[in-house]
Amino acid sequence: MADRKVAIIGSGPAGLTAALYTARANLKPLLVEGLEAGGQLMLTTMVENWPGFRDGIMGPDLMAEMRVQAERFGTDVMQGNVERVDLNRRPFSIAFADGTSITTDALIIATGASARWLEIGVDRKLSGHGVSTCATCDGYFFRGKPIAVVGGGDSAMEEAIYLTRFATKVTVIHRRDSLRASKIMQDKAFANPKIEFIWDSEIADIKDLERGEVTGIDVRHLKTGTITHVPLDGVFIAIGHTPNTALFRGQIELDEAGYIRTHHGTKTSCPGIFAAGDVQDHVYRQAVTAAGSGCMAAIDAERYLDGLPVPDETTDNAACLAESPTSELLKP
Ligand code: NAP
Repeated sequence: MADRKVAIIGSGPAGLTAALYTARANLKPLLVEGLEAGGQLMLTTMVENWPGFRDGIMGPDLMAEMRVQAERFGTDVMQGNVERVDLNRRPFSIAFADGTSITTDALIIATGASARWLEIGVDRKLSGHGVSTCATCDGYFFRGKPIAVVGGGDSAMEEAIYLTRFATKVTVIHRRDSLRASKIMQDKAFANPKIEFIWDSEIADIKDLERGEVTGIDVRHLKTGTITHVPLDGVFIAIGHTPNTALFRGQIELDEAGYIRTHHGTKTSCPGIFAAGDVQDHVYRQAVTAAGSGCMAAIDAERYLDGLPVPDETTDNAACLAESPTSELLKP
């Protein structure tokens, strides 16, 4: 008999919504918060695109409300981090950093993805104060202002194009002299009169940490070493995301970029394990879509548990990866 019917790893909008729904289905979920409790919204300021708050809500306040709501219906929230999981035997087992462990019949993975940051440090310090990793979330704050986007991939082009709705000018800083983005995105960006490019360059510094706001950037030309100051009001970093899937590598199927592959809703390659939010979505990546998939994962887990034979003994689960012949992870 497992300790828990359902456990959820991750406490962003996906994990907390999964907790709310499984708690209301009387499944007494355990939610493990993880190291970055509350997820990416804890790093934002005003969230203006969460439906229902006409004046917006601060990211950390939204996450605090979601947590209280999930707890109100019986979610056990556990602080701390998962050290390792064993998904190859049923019930699944989860071991924590403090040396304890639990078993669970169903598992919802909502560990999210982390935006990559530059290596200069100041970008993180000014996050939410003029530096952002999400144009959809924060673009509106830069109406009538000049801004920069860092990166040369599809995300950077998509963000740059989107940001031209608000900004007077968008300067793309890219470390090479050609873009990684798809041809169609390149063409759109090149055709946009509000977008300018600075090639072969990186941001050496973002001003002004002392004032706690962005007033400009120092751009280093990588071939000449020359530093040029560009005055502007915001910096969007779009150099990719890293899905938080290291714990699961080798146990369930991941795609080439390391995201969990889901099918038919939130099902993973392993029956009884569901994935929700940014850990399985590199396309939409919105708080509201993460919450929506958290709801789907809860309903999927509930249905799975309804059809589960009484779990009175540990059984092998070797089929998980074997069911996914395309998996990278099957390769030696
Ligand atoms: P990506 O394709 O990995 O591009 C990352 C970009 O950031 C690259 O141009 C890279 O430069 C640059 N970069 C990486 N580290 C950097 C650093 N430390 N300093 C400065 N620049 C750095 O990531 P992505 O754009 O987020 O896209 C991820 C995946 O999602 C891709 O498969 C993409 O096609 C897909 N996507 C698709 C769409 C769409 O179809 N609409 C939209 C968004 C994303 P280099 O080029 O020199 O490596």
